[in-house]
Amino acid sequence: MKLMEYRIDAVVEAFSGAERVCVFTGAGASKESGLPTFREIDGEWKHYDPMTFATLEGFLSEPVQVWNMYRMRQRQIGEAQPNGGHSVIAQMERQYPHFLLVTQNVDDLHERAGSRKLVKIHGDCWGMRCLQCCETYDTRDFDFPAEFTTETLPICPKCEVLCRPDIVWFGEFVPDDAMHAAVWSSSTCDLMLVVGTSGEVSGGYGFVERAAMNGATIVEINPTEGILTQHAHIWVPEPAGVVLPKIWQCLTMYK
Ligand SMILES: [Zn+2]
Repeated sequence: MKLMEYRIDAVVEAFSGAERVCVFTGAGASKESGLPTFREIDGEWKHYDPMTFATLEGFLSEPVQVWNMYRMRQRQIGEAQPNGGHSVIAQMERQYPHFLLVTQNVDDLHERAGSRKLVKIHGDCWGMRCLQCCETYDTRDFDFPAEFTTETLPICPKCEVLCRPDIVWFGEFVPDDAMHAAVWSSSTCDLMLVVGTSGEVSGGYGFVERAAMNGATIVEINPTEGILTQHAHIWVPEPAGVVLPKIWQCLTMYK
């Protein structure tokens, strides 16, 4: 059954009958909170060369520039607020006995909305990782300047070796534990909710295809059609921050 012209009651029914839920979010969820996206046509990469700012080689040749770009990103994240979509997703984890949020977003808007059962498959913009011992740290636990210089770059407290942003860059793999959790949840869920991702980057992971193959109902919330839309049983072409609170309200009344 494919409902390209969605009815809200069909979405509410899908939510209502579910027990095992996997939510998969992408840049669109953050964009609704005013955070510019990196990978879209009008995104930030227009101003930054991804070969410098999103590869290990680029980082090693220009660590100050790269760190200062992430510092700027941290400031943008700090100023952004979670939206209604983030808030409903946080409430969902308390509603369903089996739940996992798999996000490609490196900001902390999901956590600030209250999400705890989540994996961040592309890393965390607040994190830093030692190039030698691979220990990760929260940059907020250090008294770093607003802008780094060669002398003040983040250094591992144990090894005194340079730390990199804890982000999965181009050509790098999603960390094993995050990948396993995402594969397990998408393989065993009975409802997969896809929010704000075109699937261009994530399509290769096959989460949505896996869920569909195992009989899950796929609901996609995304104002524009993406490559994952073909797998959706129900496509809701609206911003999640607007429509998810409506769905959630209907669901509460329905129960
Ligand atoms: Zn170290």
